[in-house]
Amino acid sequence: MGTTAQPSQTGDTALVLFSGGQDSATCLAWALARYPHVETVGFRYGQRHAVEMDCREPIRQALVCPGMGEDHVVDLTATIGGLGQTAMTADIAIEMGQGGLPNTFVPGRNLLFLTCAAAIAYRRGLRRIVAGVCETDYSGYPDCRDDTVKAMQLALNLGMERRFVLETPLMWRDKAATWALAFELGGPGLVEVIRDGTHTCYLGDRTNRHAWGFGCGTCPACLLRAQGWERWTAGGSPSSGPDRDTS
Ligand code: ZN
Repeated sequence: MGTTAQPSQTGDTALVLFSGGQDSATCLAWALARYPHVETVGFRYGQRHAVEMDCREPIRQALVCPGMGEDHVVDLTATIGGLGQTAMTADIAIEMGQGGLPNTFVPGRNLLFLTCAAAIAYRRGLRRIVAGVCETDYSGYPDCRDDTVKAMQLALNLGMERRFVLETPLMWRDKAATWALAFELGGPGLVEVIRDGTHTCYLGDRTNRHAWGFGCGTCPACLLRAQGWERWTAGGSPSSGPDRDTS
């Protein structure tokens, strides 16, 4: 990564936290439609579904346009692993813990991601940091909340003496509305790229193909994705809805 110069921030550049999943791929398309220069960052953190990282480059290629900038990959495996086990990073059963929070919650993960993204954005002179977090239709992760992101924006701007804008285009959309946004941004072609190219399943299953994409079909992430797809395909009007020819 070119870090010798410190370019001044310009308002229409963005860094997208791009995991290879449905939400972040939709955010990448959203950012490319708005800003003339968009870079991406992905994080390895020992996730069980590390297969999502392999989905990133093909999606970047599918969305490639003059505005597509560099990709960055940060390895936080030792950092996150050193903090303790979770069902997201170790082979233990996914279940609800106390307080209604599933044990797939990785404490501090999104806070670390946003901090690392801001550090890259600082060096690259990027102003906007785009994250696919969502408070509407989520697993109860407190680091996906709007207030958390707003507080992080303030902390990062104070701590790095910058004017970053943290953007969360999916914050108030449920999964059906996220599919609708993809359709709005890129029609059936983008929906197809996201459906077939992105990875959501916590267990890393890419052998079972469903109407909504690949996955085990039973983990919480698959269920959310499947329910969103079903609501979207059921609710779309014939002129604006998806291709009904779902296998
Ligand atoms: Zn799954």
